[in-house]
Amino acid sequence: MSSSIWAGVGPSSMAEVKQQHSVLLRRGLSSDNHAMSRIFTFCSLSNHGDINYALKLLATLPNPDTFLYNTLFKAFNTSPSLSLSLYSHMLQRSLLPNAFTFPPLLKSSSNLHQTKQLHAHIIKFGFASHIAALNNLVHVYFLFGSFHDARRVFHTISHPDVVSWTTLVSGYSLWGHVDEAFRLFQLMPCKNSVSWNAMISCFVKNNRFPEAFELFRRMREEGVEMDRFVAATMLSACTGVGALEQGKWIHGYVEKAGIVLDSKLGATIVDMYCKCGCLDEAFRVFCGLKVKGLSSWNCMIGGFAMHGKGKDAISLFSLMEEEAMVVPDGITFVNVLAACAHSGLVEEGRYYFRYMVDVRGVEPAMEHYGCMVDLLARAGRLEEAKKVVEEMPMSPDASVLGALLGACRIHGNFELGEEVGKRVIELDPGNSGRYVMLGNIYASSGKWEQVASVRKWMDERGVKKEPGFSIIEMEGVVNEFVAGGRDHPLAETIYDKVYEMLESIRVVGYVPDTDDVLHDLVEEERENPLFYHSEKLAIAYGLLKTKRGETLRVTKNLRVCKDCHQASKLISKVYGCDIIIRDRNRFHQFSNGECSCKDYW
Ligand code: ZN
Ligand code: ZN
Repeated sequence: MSSSIWAGVGPSSMAEVKQQHSVLLRRGLSSDNHAMSRIFTFCSLSNHGDINYALKLLATLPNPDTFLYNTLFKAFNTSPSLSLSLYSHMLQRSLLPNAFTFPPLLKSSSNLHQTKQLHAHIIKFGFASHIAALNNLVHVYFLFGSFHDARRVFHTISHPDVVSWTTLVSGYSLWGHVDEAFRLFQLMPCKNSVSWNAMISCFVKNNRFPEAFELFRRMREEGVEMDRFVAATMLSACTGVGALEQGKWIHGYVEKAGIVLDSKLGATIVDMYCKCGCLDEAFRVFCGLKVKGLSSWNCMIGGFAMHGKGKDAISLFSLMEEEAMVVPDGITFVNVLAACAHSGLVEEGRYYFRYMVDVRGVEPAMEHYGCMVDLLARAGRLEEAKKVVEEMPMSPDASVLGALLGACRIHGNFELGEEVGKRVIELDPGNSGRYVMLGNIYASSGKWEQVASVRKWMDERGVKKEPGFSIIEMEGVVNEFVAGGRDHPLAETIYDKVYEMLESIRVVGYVPDTDDVLHDLVEEERENPLFYHSEKLAIAYGLLKTKRGETLRVTKNLRVCKDCHQASKLISKVYGCDIIIRDRNRFHQFSNGECSCKDYW
């Protein structure tokens, strides 16, 4: 084995490194940089290497070269201070940087000041026309938010390549400047799949899903092959809007094109099916994954939780523990506890909370306490939930208290609700949903003056409402509706259908429910009556486009309101179709006049 370096094979373990090193020492080659470089590369860059060994070797070499330093810069690109002190060490030994020195150094830059110093060195040492160094520089200036410097460097590149342009697009995307990113993307003289992916994922990350789908369509039209990165981005777009048909198509493409289904892509597909309401398909894909990483287990357990299948989530978790191939983390337990909360499994929830701490040694974080509060509060044990809030080691955030607040409303505990509601608003003053919840608590006890004052706080503080929208995918096209919107080409027909729909459920007892008093004024557009909430438009469009008995799948960005919930139940009965609405919190499966959430959401 020890002769392997002469045959051109590098070491594959630290034991081999030490063996080869001693051979080199015996043969008097230990100061030969070339002979040392394989050992050096292994120690620095392999997962099984030992970076400290590399540093010791460096100290023993009489004349190390820039190549060896560059290897270390690559290894240290996550510890900026070490990289930079090695760099000055290198300069002190009168070694000059070369073209490969700056990219890894720039990656380890931890602030704008350091970046500017490295920029000065790039110029000083004559790399001002070296495109890889400049592309990296553009990227790093964007990371630190210095758009001006990034643009300036970009303009010094005499022939920007596809990487330079993509860096520019990604830079704006990073800061949410979607329109500027898109403007630049369209100016690109040539694009590769990385550039397309950068722009598509920019739309996805900023919830501009229809544009993501449109761009994806254009990409394919231009004959660019979908790779695993684009596939993953588009799968999250499908997940974002609940576009099952497109998601299925991409999954099929991944299989046909032989794209390697690693554990990350596998988890993305499982997640897509879960969040598009196809739990069975998700489970089938999950079971077929050759490599099940922690994230695929987590997605599948979370999928069961979202669909209110607490028992299934728990048995999957037990299986995970039996197979013992992966170790559960904090997210696993958030999903297990959420599963217990959504299914009212109070004792199980308590058990797994203790198990997490005592057996798995996971320190409970805010989310875990949030789940426990939700679990107890949903089950009507408001006092116990309150006790958890009082005794948790950190001060509760708005989502923990929000869980308690929601339960106060459902269980009609006005006093606790008022107290908690005020605290939640203090913690999360910009979130309109919090005001709505407190307003509703006042409204349900007939305290109209207080309702008015909640409304006044909102106006005074200029709280922005998050615009509500619903999405339904039909024939592979993603249709987005906003309350009262008339942008859809079939708007007139859709409004007629809403009217017909509401008339026919009135016959079976529908009475418009205006109990969510602030909902109308806050979460949906002011000028639009209850009847034209975005989910009603989406359902009407779905009814127009499907045959009787087909399932409609709607995704809503906000919590579904009480009136739309009631209407959906009756529509499922009158029209004989299942309606699945994914709202901000969970899935509602409406079937024959009932909802899977049992009116608790
Ligand atoms: Zn509604
Ligand atoms: Zn429901």
